[in-house]
Amino acid sequence: MMRRSLSLPAFFMPAARRLRTIGLLLPALAGLALLAGVVGFRVSEGMGLAALQETGHHRLDLYAESLEREIDKYAYFPATLGLERDVLDLVTGRAPLAWGLNRYLERLNERAGTLSIYVLNRQGRVLATSNWNRPDSFIGEDLSYRPYFVEAAAGRQGRFFGVGTTRGEAGYYLSSPLTEDGAIVGVAVVKVSLEQLEQSWSTVEAPVLVADENGVVILASVPSWKFTTLRPMDEPTRRHFDLTLQYNARPLQALGLTALDRIAADAELVRLSRPADGQLEEAVFPVTGGFLAQTAPLHGTGWTMTVLSPVDQVTGMAWTRAALAAVGSAFLGILLLMWVQRRRHLLDLERKVEERTRNLRAAQDELVHAGKLAVIGQLSAGLAHELNQPLAALRTLSGNTVKFLQRGNLDAAQGNLERIAHLVDAMGALTSQLKSFARKSSGAPRPVAVRRPIDNALFLLEQRLRRSGVAVQVDAPEDVAALCNPNRLEQVLVNLVANALDALTGRTDGRLTLNARTEGDRVCIRVADNGPGLPAEVLPRLFEPFFTTKEAAKDGSKEGSGGLGLGLAISAGIVRDFGGALTGANGPDGGAVFTIDLPAAALPTDPTAVQAGDLLCPTLPPSP
Ligand code: ADP
Repeated sequence: MMRRSLSLPAFFMPAARRLRTIGLLLPALAGLALLAGVVGFRVSEGMGLAALQETGHHRLDLYAESLEREIDKYAYFPATLGLERDVLDLVTGRAPLAWGLNRYLERLNERAGTLSIYVLNRQGRVLATSNWNRPDSFIGEDLSYRPYFVEAAAGRQGRFFGVGTTRGEAGYYLSSPLTEDGAIVGVAVVKVSLEQLEQSWSTVEAPVLVADENGVVILASVPSWKFTTLRPMDEPTRRHFDLTLQYNARPLQALGLTALDRIAADAELVRLSRPADGQLEEAVFPVTGGFLAQTAPLHGTGWTMTVLSPVDQVTGMAWTRAALAAVGSAFLGILLLMWVQRRRHLLDLERKVEERTRNLRAAQDELVHAGKLAVIGQLSAGLAHELNQPLAALRTLSGNTVKFLQRGNLDAAQGNLERIAHLVDAMGALTSQLKSFARKSSGAPRPVAVRRPIDNALFLLEQRLRRSGVAVQVDAPEDVAALCNPNRLEQVLVNLVANALDALTGRTDGRLTLNARTEGDRVCIRVADNGPGLPAEVLPRLFEPFFTTKEAAKDGSKEGSGGLGLGLAISAGIVRDFGGALTGANGPDGGAVFTIDLPAAALPTDPTAVQAGDLLCPTLPPSP
């Protein structure tokens, strides 16, 4: 076997190319995975935030409603004090302080569950209060600077959140003017604690806070957030608070809420850093990290309520989905690549097979041609042998004719000349046959009456047939027509008949049968002999090029075609070209049967439309 030598660069070429392809594909795959990851993250985060926003909204509505209800409960409370005669007498100065009024306010305070109830005169001095008997009682205190007093003294309802100046207790102050005959004579105040409400918030899933009009957190589910500020506070404002003691001089540190991204008019992504004092709250919800802050104003106050829903879970889920999308897309990408590679490989293979088939076909064409030449070689040997005889006869006949002429025996001379003419015709027919056989025809198929090629083939081998003494029987009706090329079919038949003659060499009872039949849309031509047949070891290799069981003819004396082993291979190729098949088998009575199967054809109705090559051979004239 020949070893194919490859130069080193050529050997490494495919590997290098593959590496280069992988080098290009890997970043593409990574890019695809990254893109899928980003899209997966964005979509998942968007969906998560939308769901979070929805629940946040519900919470906000619920908490705001409960807070508003709590405040509304006390809205008309201070005004009802104006219905008390004792109260009006006291604030107008018509009667001195009756201790009974203090006790009345104390009881009222207990019943109502408020922090304190007190009455001020027109100047803002506390005249009666529910906490009269406590050491830090408001009695006598001047609260004219408190905004709730200022508001009520001006005839309006006062609403104020503040830290008590005496006990430092935070509360909501509701104030009302006390009127008599349309004139404002004093102010009644109720201080309400919202702590209970605040405590109920500490068990919910998301932190809630309420900021007053100054941006100061006054209620929060996280205690340490209380009295922090949502927005930075300038010095004048801070001084003002110190002056009014609204927050009782608390430091008012910033809550540390950083706005990240506004996703709706009332919703914003924020980040909350640890409380400034560093103490972590014990709560059922996270108090630091990313939140979705949703804010709504509270009716009847200048306050806003904010619900902070933790977004860590949404982000975590988005990361997981992004990773899944990235891995999934990379996997799909790899599958796609493998499929593309496989397809390319298959196409490559197909192209190679096509190329190989083309080459083989070309080689086969060459073989067919070579086979013809081989047959010509054999034929010419035979022909030389055949022609020598008539040539010798011609020589004798012409010599005799000259003598007849000299003797004046014109009849005998004429007879000789006629025999000479016959001989020359016969020889001319042989040579023209040879010419047509050697012509390399592409052999475009057309309807052919198979009887012609059968007769031509037998004619070409007539000398051999005659010498072998083989009895030939032909059964081929004129109307049996196949789609083929007559010259090439003739070449096949010559091969088959010659093989049969080889097989019958030395037999005295040799018999050769050729028949042609139309069977449906096929035509079958059978060449059968009564020779030794095809042995089992020969059958599978019959059509193999160069397979032969014959010895090469050593000299011209041997009748056999002299084993090239090409005859059947070439013949099978020719028949295949016509869309047919050549098969070999053993006949029922021994001997070989070769069958040429061809597509049937209809003969043209015009009898003159006969193609060149159909009439290669007129019937051979009788020998002298
Ligand atoms: P070749 O005639 O040059 O040997 P072929 O391809 O024509 O090549 O034939 C191949 C072989 O098939 C022959 O060598 C012979 O053994 C066998 N063979 C062909 N025709 C016959 C036949 N009619 N009877 C017996 N054997 C045959």
